[in-house]
Amino acid sequence: MASKASLRPIVISGPSGTGKSTLLKRLFADYPDNFGFSVSHTTRKPRPGEEDGIAYHFVDRPAFERLIVEDAFLEHAEFSGNYYGTSIKAVEDVGAHGKTCILDIDMQGVVSVKNTPLNARFLFLAPPSLETLRARLEGRGTESPESVKKRMDQAEKEMAFAETGAHDKIIVNDDLEKAYKDLVSFVFEEQ
Ligand code: ADP
Ligand code: 5GP
Repeated sequence: MASKASLRPIVISGPSGTGKSTLLKRLFADYPDNFGFSVSHTTRKPRPGEEDGIAYHFVDRPAFERLIVEDAFLEHAEFSGNYYGTSIKAVEDVGAHGKTCILDIDMQGVVSVKNTPLNARFLFLAPPSLETLRARLEGRGTESPESVKKRMDQAEKEMAFAETGAHDKIIVNDDLEKAYKDLVSFVFEEQ
């Protein structure tokens, strides 16, 4: 495997529960010197095991709204009743360490980032089917039935958006090992 990665930021998106965090966790563990995560802000509550400042910066709505007013965000959106946003600092911090920045954001974020000078590459991670996605979301055990429903509704929109050709690459996360191999190929692709 090539040892150098392009410094163009990489945006990974795809329905909630499709396996983005699972694959990225492995990538960051295997290639700690090459890639850094853009730690977003969110108003949703942490899941068990999610550390503040690592998975997200967990903030309340007034704090998030102050950051909007201060123009701290490169992009932000509402997803499933909560705010999510990429701060300019989150992306700069990764670049300052000479690493390729990886953003995990929804389709609204993808549209916004396309309108910035980031010159990012876009990867869509798709589930093998919506039934499998539901099973993964429920199997993760982190979402209420209401949250699963909202995420499944949004998943259909994400899938339709991917069909518009907005992404540079689509990887189907069926077999985890195969999806990881495809991810590694994409992130190390020569530009
Ligand atoms: P996301 O970050 O996209 O919301 P997660 O990484 O949290 O998704 O994955 C959702 C659930 O699906 C987790 O319980 C994870 O272990 C499981 N999962 C991820 N990839 C696969 C796969 N290829 N096959 C089976 N289960 C998977
Ligand atoms: P989750 O609550 O499952 O961690 O994330 C829900 C959705 O929000 C996912 O699609 C994820 O990619 C997206 N997301 C996470 N951070 C950001 C962000 O900073 N901006 C945007 N637009 N979406 C985000």
